[in-house]
Amino acid sequence: MLSVIIPSYNEEGNVVKAADVVSKLLEENDIDYELIFVNDGSKDKTWELINELATTREHIVGVNFSRNFGKESAIFAGLEVAKGDACVLLDCDLQFPPEVIIQMYNIWKNNDVDVVEGRKKSRGKENFIYKAFSLMFYKMINSSSGLDMRAASDFKLMDRSVVDSLNAMPERLTFFRAMSSWVGYKTEKIYFDVRDREVGESKWTVGKLIKFALNNITSFTSAPLQIVTVCGIITFLISVIMGVNTLYNKFFGDASAGFSTVIILQLFTSSIIMFSLGIIGFYISKIYEEIKQRPRYIIKDLVRKQDPYSGGDIWKKG
Ligand code: UDP
Ligand code: MG
Repeated sequence: MLSVIIPSYNEEGNVVKAADVVSKLLEENDIDYELIFVNDGSKDKTWELINELATTREHIVGVNFSRNFGKESAIFAGLEVAKGDACVLLDCDLQFPPEVIIQMYNIWKNNDVDVVEGRKKSRGKENFIYKAFSLMFYKMINSSSGLDMRAASDFKLMDRSVVDSLNAMPERLTFFRAMSSWVGYKTEKIYFDVRDREVGESKWTVGKLIKFALNNITSFTSAPLQIVTVCGIITFLISVIMGVNTLYNKFFGDASAGFSTVIILQLFTSSIIMFSLGIIGFYISKIYEEIKQRPRYIIKDLVRKQDPYSGGDIWKKG
């Protein structure tokens, strides 16, 4: 069985359509499936729609968060609830073409591969600033983690063994795209074009994106800490040159010129120290967050019409 995990946040215009399109597609291709809609604390009618789908249709599972925990948490909740032999992630806005799921499924089924990774051929509509920042973000992640992430997406089909490995990872601050590469396994790539969103708008705000980028950079690389080291080396070199210069002046030239040098050095070193402390503080705050071991999400309701394994009736956990 294939589990399709669909994180949904304020997607009232997309939920039913996504359910229809994906169900139809999978049924046409004779694939046994479940659709897991994870409602990530939507403020609109998304949960009402999911709840109705899950209680009236087979194959549909609704998971309801107690508040908005973010797409990452929704993905991991989906993975934990999923019962399929393979799981695939899909955006509710169908920006990832659902037909590709069939290709992924066939590659997984007919070959000895554990992960079929969807890579973006093109990135769809994005504005200039978004492009520039995402480029910078991925450069940083790529160079330090050795994972090529620029074209990576959350659109991925994973074997049960991979899903179990991901579920076993205890960290709280997750970055699915990097974690699913990190676990390894035999991976096959497949390329697709990102479509434009038809209904509603992108759920990413600038604030959310910055938080996402900072969290992922700090949980996946220690590059910022290395920047501090490099800054330290450079400052050290500069101060050596300035020191030599000052000494030279003292013995052979104008000794009173030292005042400005002191001020410059003072300013420079103290700003570097403050900058480094800032970065260290940021990492400490991440450590603090990990150490709390809070759950990644809280599920309020879980609804499915029929439990496919026990064959039970309406199954509801509150
Ligand atoms: N999403 C979510 N929680 C959030 C933000 C987004 O579950 O806090 C879901 C959203 O419903 C969609 C997917 O994540 O199914 C991708 O979001 P979106 O289309 O807004 O992102 P983009 O395609 O612009 O990167
Ligand atoms: Mg989208």
